[in-house]
Amino acid sequence: MSDIVDPRTADIRYETDTPVLYEVRGAVAWLTMNRPEFANSQNSQMTYAIDDCLRRAVADDAVKVIVLRGAGKHFSGGHDIGTPGRDVAKTWPERRSLWYDHVNKPGAEYLYAREQEVYLGMCRRWRDIPKPTIAMVQGACIAGGLMLAWVCDLIVASDDAYFTDPVVRMGIPGVEYFAHPFELPPRVAKEFLFTGERMDAARAHALGMVNRVVPRAELEEATTRLAERVASMPRLGLALTKQAVNHAEDLRGKRTAMDAVFHMHHFAHAQGDLTMGHSLGGMDAKSMAAANRSAGSAGDGGQGDGKGDDKGDDKDGGKGRGDGGAG
Ligand code: ZN
Repeated sequence: MSDIVDPRTADIRYETDTPVLYEVRGAVAWLTMNRPEFANSQNSQMTYAIDDCLRRAVADDAVKVIVLRGAGKHFSGGHDIGTPGRDVAKTWPERRSLWYDHVNKPGAEYLYAREQEVYLGMCRRWRDIPKPTIAMVQGACIAGGLMLAWVCDLIVASDDAYFTDPVVRMGIPGVEYFAHPFELPPRVAKEFLFTGERMDAARAHALGMVNRVVPRAELEEATTRLAERVASMPRLGLALTKQAVNHAEDLRGKRTAMDAVFHMHHFAHAQGDLTMGHSLGGMDAKSMAAANRSAGSAGDGGQGDGKGDDKGDDKDGGKGRGDGGAG
């Protein structure tokens, strides 16, 4: 068998040329994920745009702090597993790590090469940028959305925010950036993954996963206040402090644990492919929504639908945005 195959193709229809908006106010750069009609589900177009904006913010000496937020009702419905702009089968000539292109690679190598670049590689790169970052989270923060919040140094959430990683239902042990047992106590991390249930902002705050919780109407103001306060500190002091804490986390095993679990994650993708011909275990945004709804105890049905909306009444419905932490 050749180890090069015909490139996969897909009909990709982007709904926007600006999946991330960039604005500088004072010493703070605001990056706004801009696919609100799809709960800001993250395709590669958005991933590379986030990376571009972060480079720009890091290079700008006037910027001291960076905020990452999502337009609309939700922070992030996770990785794109079903919008018209889903672009897994697309080559990005300017890759940001030194991994080779995935689209003409056979079998499990296809997703492995892709996710080394766009998920594990990109998230680590973002976590280590030398300026403080703040995730401003409202509404849904699902699966791949957790990765975007977790790579930030601080998280400010509105009281209606919730967090969930439902990908165990796909047979996958959590999203690619496996920080769960570092973001949460290990037993809570297991519960979070085993059940796929939502964690509300109040519990996330009590566990230390979120720094501040404020009413939705005050979210931007509270985030601005925090960002400006941090921005009043000296640049190098902030950069060194960030590295100090990140280094301590890595000494506790964060990086090496993530390396190990990334390979379990890909074993799970491969198992799905071998047994069902589908790397997400036969699940899509719709079936995830239905499964989580029917499994839902205590009225938390709908998490993991990637729609970022639990009510079933949203205009978002049926557009197939959503997450698998895979794709
Ligand atoms: Zn994956």
